[in-house]
Amino acid sequence: MQALLEARGFRAVPLEATPDVVVINTCTVTARAELSDRRAIRRAARLSPGGRVVVTGCWAQTNGAEVAALGGVDLVVGNADKPRLPELLADLLTGDRAAPRVAVSDLAGARLEPVASGPRTDGRSRAFVKVQDGCQHRCAFCIVPFARGASRSLDPKLLEDQVRGLVEAGHPEILLTGVDLGHYGADLLPRTDLAALLGRLAAIDGLRWLRLSSLLPAYFSEPLLELLTASPVIAPHFHVPLQSGSDRILRSMRRPYTTAMYRRVVERLAGAIPRLGLGADVIVGFPGEAAADFAATLGLVETLPFSYLHVFPYSTRRGTEAAVLPGRVEAGVVAERARRLRQAAARKSRAFREAMVGRVEDVLVLARGDRREGDLVGLTGNYIEVAFPGPEDLRRRVARVLVTDARGERARGMLDETLAG
Ligand code: SF4
Repeated sequence: MQALLEARGFRAVPLEATPDVVVINTCTVTARAELSDRRAIRRAARLSPGGRVVVTGCWAQTNGAEVAALGGVDLVVGNADKPRLPELLADLLTGDRAAPRVAVSDLAGARLEPVASGPRTDGRSRAFVKVQDGCQHRCAFCIVPFARGASRSLDPKLLEDQVRGLVEAGHPEILLTGVDLGHYGADLLPRTDLAALLGRLAAIDGLRWLRLSSLLPAYFSEPLLELLTASPVIAPHFHVPLQSGSDRILRSMRRPYTTAMYRRVVERLAGAIPRLGLGADVIVGFPGEAAADFAATLGLVETLPFSYLHVFPYSTRRGTEAAVLPGRVEAGVVAERARRLRQAAARKSRAFREAMVGRVEDVLVLARGDRREGDLVGLTGNYIEVAFPGPEDLRRRVARVLVTDARGERARGMLDETLAG
């Protein structure tokens, strides 16, 4: 959106600089996200009383009328309408400040517009490339398919050009994102898939790491597994959402896999990739989750080699199937289960990081450093943050770092001088 608007002569300024227009990109994934959306809108209206407030994103898409009815909102723009933002803004700025306008189109048949492919100017080390949007699934707890529509992918040639441009502009790592990333290519003509895309991108000269955002276990096909476990460019870190270790709950969540399938994928990855970074999301307290279901989740987590977990206490999302399911789990029980799972995850994470001590690793030095110590901070291929002293010109480059300590939140290390450069 920023690139689109800048191409039309708009310039981004901080909110405190009383802008003419404030664009708020909302999230609707949880009730808490909506709360912070509301807060952001109120803050914009307060700090920029003469400016026009434009609200877009997933909350605008799913609840356009509700958003328009909030005081201070001038324009509501749906997700498929974002490419029209420059025209919509031009109209808004020339018209009277009357009732809020709503430009929210139906997502059926929406296309995915490529984002401006020029190098990012934000100085980040890693570049994010969205290859797919929308979701083919209907998980019972999730509002995303209503906010993003059906799965749609970008053309592989276009993505290859975009990634090459980003690597040439100095991004050693590319993170591929998508809501239903594993579905990549199934909507394209000719049909293609994620394995084919990764094969193509991994061959780009100068790319150190190609990292995947989140991938459902059902998408790990044999060709994909072969590529992921063999390519030195694919980061040895996968985020494979689990949500529950109970098959009964997975069915009720309408997740498209079983625990056996999950275990098979993880064991295959971990067997082939030493020191695999493995993350997962887990929901605790989904309606109907009995003590035995939670015990199954905890048991699965204990036996698989997770390096980190994101634990989410279940919260009801209006408009989803799960919102009307019976078997609410009492809040205190949910909190206790979340605590126990987080504790188990912290133990595993610590053991994982301690196993890295004494190793020399390629580390992508991030643009932001450690504020307190003034050290550089980098990310290993398997997604561990390491802080170490080093020269400023290493920022955004790949360094060789000896990991010396993993006791704190962030591992510590020192430059491996013998191999530096
Ligand atoms: S896979 Fe399920 S949880 Fe993920 S976006 Fe699609 S519907 Fe939501």
